[in-house]
Amino acid sequence: MTKTSSLPPIHVIGGGLAGSEAAWQIAESGIPVILHEMRGVRGTDAHKTDGLAELVCSNSFRSDDATSNAVGVLHAEMRLAGSLIMRSADANQVPAGGALAVDREGFSAAVTAALEGHPLITITREEVTGLPPEDWDQAIIATGPLTAPSLAEAIQARTGADSLAFFDAIAPIVHTASIDMDICWFQSRYDKVGPGGTGKDYINCPMDEAQYNAFIDALVAGDTTGFKEWEGTPYFDGCLPIEVMAERGRETLRHGPMKPMGLTNAHNPSVKPYAVVQLRQDNALGTLYNMVGFQTKLKYGAQAEIFRLIPGLENAEFARLGGLHRNTYINSPTLLDGSLALKGRPGLRFAGQITGCEGYVESASIGLLAGRFAATERRGETPSLPPETTAFGALLGHITGGHIVSDDEPGKRSFQPMNVNFGLFPPLEPGTITKPEGMKRFRGKDKALAKKQATAARALEDCARWLGL
Ligand SMILES: Cc1cc2nc3c(=O)[nH]c(=O)nc-3n(C[C@H](O)[C@H](O)[C@H](O)COP(=O)(O)OP(=O)(O)OC[C@H]3O[C@@H](n4cnc5c(N)ncnc54)[C@H](O)[C@@H]3O)c2cc1C
Repeated sequence: MTKTSSLPPIHVIGGGLAGSEAAWQIAESGIPVILHEMRGVRGTDAHKTDGLAELVCSNSFRSDDATSNAVGVLHAEMRLAGSLIMRSADANQVPAGGALAVDREGFSAAVTAALEGHPLITITREEVTGLPPEDWDQAIIATGPLTAPSLAEAIQARTGADSLAFFDAIAPIVHTASIDMDICWFQSRYDKVGPGGTGKDYINCPMDEAQYNAFIDALVAGDTTGFKEWEGTPYFDGCLPIEVMAERGRETLRHGPMKPMGLTNAHNPSVKPYAVVQLRQDNALGTLYNMVGFQTKLKYGAQAEIFRLIPGLENAEFARLGGLHRNTYINSPTLLDGSLALKGRPGLRFAGQITGCEGYVESASIGLLAGRFAATERRGETPSLPPETTAFGALLGHITGGHIVSDDEPGKRSFQPMNVNFGLFPPLEPGTITKPEGMKRFRGKDKALAKKQATAARALEDCARWLGL
């Protein structure tokens, strides 16, 4: 560790998963940190303790398989980067099969002790009620999905009313390769080209009358999750869950997100579809498509089952399923530069779930990156960004630029929070995976697994190089 503690401190606001990791990375690089955490003075609707990095719900960090699972790769990259969150998780692991699950109290206690014991970290228990003052020239806001209201208002005042969302209305996202294009076709409604479009921007799934009716019946009968009290979020116009729309009348969806107008089935041009489900490109790579207007509160199991009734999606693989829950996140692709700094306010970064990632591990990893970027800048250097082939880079790319702005729905947000998944990684170079010797047919599950393994191996190699290991 290079001790350069004569440098001014970096302020980190929020001692959750992201803020704790950011503080650790900064201090380990020899720069002092002041970590501002409000719990102890003011609580949130979900946290129960004053411990740093409290896990508010599940105690799982999900798969620990770094050979073929994207979150497992992220674990491995964080370990390579000296993550405090991963070190504390590993030290407090409880049995959970292939997943990394932790004793939540032991985990939070380990993080808290490490930060409290670090000579370069000062922890202040206070609520930060506005944007960091100008003299906090390097600061990170990592206040999470339950950011206290006055800070949230200040962020909204600085970034614009449309730039801060207070809950997710999430439509499912599908891996493009799992969509059956012998049934579906590319076309924009009325072949509209629009600014930046081609006239063939959507993937369309056709339904006849019987298929539509069966789908509506399944939606209405589907198992939904209930709102928890802390969520308290009313529906608002333009964001009704599809099952609620279906309940309002059999024809509602056919006149809403599933209207067939302006679309001609390329595989069967003479037959007009009765209804159409549209999917819109979700990332710049085109490896993911989201189901337009399909925000839902259906339980995950019910979603997968019901959405696979849609012609062309029978074998759909979901990068994420839909949901509706309390969250606070900014429109990062518009507001942040590639190193997570607010455009127009150099030195002020965001990290964690408030940037539009989802989950404990993802939040901590974005804290790790923000901490490293801030520390580099404090030393007067320019941050080096992780390669987009790494899990760090793939997630950062999603947050700061990977989404597609929707030109045809002015006023609607298209950036949605996301867990890390292989759909965010750039495709492999052609020829990277070849048929194993002795194997007759190389496709389906075997090929998909080989792709994941090659993507994971490439990520870890590139990450080690980026870290200078
Ligand atoms: C109810 C609920 C359940 C969830 N369940 C899961 C789950 O099971 N698995 C999963 O992976 N993810 C879950 N999440 C998402 C989870 O919150 C994030 O993955 C993760 O905690 C985000 O990390 P973070 O550091 O961004 O935010 P947090 O961990 O929430 O940390 C933010 C910190 O900032 C503090 N803070 C807020 N405002 C201020 C302020 N103005 N001044 C000072 N301090 C402030 C808070 O007290 C908190 O300690 C859940 C979220 C919620 C709300």
